[in-house]
Amino acid sequence: MLIDTHCHIQFKPLVDEQEKVIERAKKANVKKLIVVGCDLKSSKEAINLAEKDNNIFATVGLHPQDSKTLTPEMWEDICELANHKKVVAIGETGLDYFKEYSPKDIQAQVFKRHIELAIKVDKPLIVHSREAGDDSLKILQELGAKNVVFHCFSSDLSFARKVWNAGYRTSFTGNITYPSAQNLSDTIKACPIDTIMIETDSPYLAPQRFRGQTNEPSYIVEVAKQIAEIKNMSFSEIANITTKNAEEFFGI
Ligand SMILES: [Zn+2]
Repeated sequence: MLIDTHCHIQFKPLVDEQEKVIERAKKANVKKLIVVGCDLKSSKEAINLAEKDNNIFATVGLHPQDSKTLTPEMWEDICELANHKKVVAIGETGLDYFKEYSPKDIQAQVFKRHIELAIKVDKPLIVHSREAGDDSLKILQELGAKNVVFHCFSSDLSFARKVWNAGYRTSFTGNITYPSAQNLSDTIKACPIDTIMIETDSPYLAPQRFRGQTNEPSYIVEVAKQIAEIKNMSFSEIANITTKNAEEFFGI
């Protein structure tokens, strides 16, 4: 059994055939899905899905690229949704200096609010950090965040070590299967096995075998296979370990 710890099946084009997407995931032995919110609308949609299916869970948050759109009313709603029993984490939140659609100082302010919310409701935090690793880590540590995963981890081993030393986790997605991902395989080799998690980030980042197509939760099998190969372990060992790690981390 596998768990996709980060997917957006409420986004187009996956939403157009959502039931089939969920069915294909189940057939591929992907038993649980965490549907991640990126704004108020997609957070509500994630909760709606989670309410209908015991094996689907939701998160609520505002993506860093949209930090500048936050209004007091929106934040009030996000805080209220954070208490929902099927909401298992806060995020995705963080810092994105690659696109910098929102000014850095606003991204930092909104990130801090998410961290405070996660601490208050005692739920883990899903961090999106792009070209902003050291700043993300600094803010998390200053505010005393405890249960944190750096999702779609794509930085080098030296930054990964800083994340692990802080007691935080790294989660890997389809980009580890790309031929250009040699530095990620070094990171995976060194990643403590009892903390590693996997995700698709679908509909984005289809693994190499399906590159150019829409990614979906059933393709997480490719991510698990790649990790098994890098760590020189069997597929079923990796499936069991990543599932156990995700169940413990998210309390699902
Ligand atoms: Zn995402």
